Amino acid sequence: MSAVAVKHQAINLGQGFPDTEGPRDVVEFAARALLDQQNQYPPLAGHPALREAVAAVNRRFYGPDIDPATEVVVTSGGTEALTAAMMALLNPGDEVVVFEPLYDTYLPVIRMLGAWPKIVRLEPPDWALPDAALREAFGARTKLVLMNSPMNPTGKVFSAAELGLIAELVRQYDAYVIGDEVYEHLVFDGLRHLPLMALPGMRERCLRVGSAGKTFSLTGWKIGYAAAAAPLAALVANAHQNLTFTRPPNLQRAVAFGLGKDEAYFRGFAADLGRKRDRLRAGLARVGLKCLPCSGSYFLIADIRGVGFMGSDVEFCLTITKEAKVTAIPLSAFYDQPDAPKHLVRFAFCKREEVLDEAVARLGALCAA
Ligand code: PMP
Repeated sequence: MSAVAVKHQAINLGQGFPDTEGPRDVVEFAARALLDQQNQYPPLAGHPALREAVAAVNRRFYGPDIDPATEVVVTSGGTEALTAAMMALLNPGDEVVVFEPLYDTYLPVIRMLGAWPKIVRLEPPDWALPDAALREAFGARTKLVLMNSPMNPTGKVFSAAELGLIAELVRQYDAYVIGDEVYEHLVFDGLRHLPLMALPGMRERCLRVGSAGKTFSLTGWKIGYAAAAAPLAALVANAHQNLTFTRPPNLQRAVAFGLGKDEAYFRGFAADLGRKRDRLRAGLARVGLKCLPCSGSYFLIADIRGVGFMGSDVEFCLTITKEAKVTAIPLSAFYDQPDAPKHLVRFAFCKREEVLDEAVARLGALCAA
């Protein structure tokens, strides 16, 4: 959809990237750090300052003590952390429990490694975890649960009860969890992100993935991190050695500085994004595009039936891109099979207010026409 957006010079509310820079002091730190003679390969597992910072921020927000020397691996964004973690854990024939709608990289990597996805579908409007289907997805071959909270594309934040059920089954089936937690600090309405790793008995079974791209609105930097018990982290480091080996030292040091920011930064960041969510949600509702609940991430999901659109989600996204010059993503792109819902589309709200307002005005004009 981004290519179509460029072709039609549309406002791109499809792909999730902010249209403002992250914190100025973090960017300045990176710029200065280029000039102080520290531009050779950092250690494979990550710059010591960043590993320390990941451990410290983990302790500050969630509790579990992470050893920066042995339990953190810095990667090329959350994407590489996820792939390296799956390479670390999966053998051919293993089964992986995943939740649909799914972020794009999960199924291709699971299948590339010869493992099998066991897809548990969550249903709109609230995307609640279906107890019976979840239990059914577990079996003797279950090696891993790959979960994403806050969740792209749904904006769902898994509840404590849902996490408790997943943890119970993971322990029962002696499995592992990869927590794709790249949106951990993008949570609204006073909710808090809770990593599965912080639950009783889960410390040794969980691998947490974070992304500086999301936490500091610097998606192009591609600095991610995996945190896990030392034996798991060592396997992730082995995979990372053969994928990218390391990341630029100045960016790693700047992210370390950023992670040390005080509560006010993290709270202000979430509050700002929450306001953008509210602004886009209200605007879309005015033009007849009612949105589903969203507690986190960059994304709102709108129901296109409200404006009387009779075609599919794909047709809707192409139509608004060409005719209103606003781009969204069809939700069916996040499903494995063709029986996906066809009435929902995803809008990113991580944009300047005037951009969100202009997108709504254009959609309003199209819908009124
Ligand atoms: N997981 C999810 C759910 C995402 O939405 C994204 C980014 N779109 C990533 C992982 C990848 O993060 P990064 O850009 O740090 O590689």
